[in-house]
Amino acid sequence: MTEKVVIIGSGPAGWAAAIYTSRAELQPLVYEGAITQQNQEQGTLPLGQLALTTEVENYPGFPAGNLHQYLHTSLPAENIPYRKSDDLHQAVTGPELMELMRQQAKNFGARVKTDDIVKVDLSQRPFKLTSREGDELEAQAIIIATGARANYLGLESEERFKNQGVSACAVCDGALPRFRNKPLVVVGGGDSAMEESTFLTKFGEKVYIVHRRDEFRASKIMAERALSNEKIEVKWNSAVDEVLGDDESGVTGVRIRSTVDENKTEELPAAGYFAAIGHTPNTDFLDGQLKTTKKGYLVWTVPFRTNTSVEGVFAAGDVADDYYRQAVTAAGSGCMAALDAERWLAGQGVE
Ligand code: NAP
Repeated sequence: MTEKVVIIGSGPAGWAAAIYTSRAELQPLVYEGAITQQNQEQGTLPLGQLALTTEVENYPGFPAGNLHQYLHTSLPAENIPYRKSDDLHQAVTGPELMELMRQQAKNFGARVKTDDIVKVDLSQRPFKLTSREGDELEAQAIIIATGARANYLGLESEERFKNQGVSACAVCDGALPRFRNKPLVVVGGGDSAMEESTFLTKFGEKVYIVHRRDEFRASKIMAERALSNEKIEVKWNSAVDEVLGDDESGVTGVRIRSTVDENKTEELPAAGYFAAIGHTPNTDFLDGQLKTTKKGYLVWTVPFRTNTSVEGVFAAGDVADDYYRQAVTAAGSGCMAALDAERWLAGQGVE
């Protein structure tokens, strides 16, 4: 049987696409990703980047409140992410938000496979797809919503303190109580590092930017904004050696090493460590069959439409966006991709 539409990916873009295509009676099949060690290690498990975060305070429609009741009426018990009984008045968490979106898609009939698409053949229609577990399927249309994973330096200590002070998203996590009035460290020298460090000065006592060279890659205006902020101190020509901390407090500091004199190290006190060294879009399985930017992000070939370079293949969310990268923008573009796919399929006589 040929599927009308296969959605690959299970972040906000994938679920929004699934909600819209299922309501359009296209019976979407969602490959949400597999639970494998490799996906765990590189941060590409089902439910995407949001599943790796704690509170989400900026997704419209989810003010902090007693979400306990809502979760219990909306989700099957086994899908309610862990929530302590004294957490009743906190904002929705990333995993909860994603479980809610997933359930919403399922309520409208979306079928979900906990498996990765590892290979596609886009050279002919219907397209051919192969999953990690060996499914071979055909699809009239594909929506790619596989997201992008944050780059980390790859230190063991970064891994150890994830969600305990280590983050790759200051906009998502910066306002958490653990960072209030504490020194914080941002690694990187691009626009993200500038933006994140400037943002973090609202909460932190002081923000160190650790950059491996003696000049920023960031645009002049963003760099100047950071450099003129008196709460920001730049550690030039420095690389992070290790994130310091303990089980009780999480991150307590960062040891940096000079990139010009490797014998020179320094320990910075810090309650937070924010990696801002770029993202990698999850496109390996496409094997170069779609047009990408220099950095590997999928290109929308028609302005304000989610069309890719292959007719019938649409892209939504962070896999096609290295600029906004927010849950709400990803969900918005998932909706766009669903509408684009639906209209394109109708034009092909598939309804
Ligand atoms: P980016 O421009 O690729 O910068 C990455 C930074 O991380 C670089 O400074 C790089 O150092 C450093 N880095 C990379 N790997 C490293 C490693 N292993 N160890 C130490 N440092 C490392 O990425 P981005 O800042 O995330 O920006 C991505 C895109 O989004 C850009 O186009 C940017 O303009 C855009 N953006 C725009 C805004 C805005 O306008 N408001 C905000 C955020 C992002 P080197 O410089 O030495 O290579």
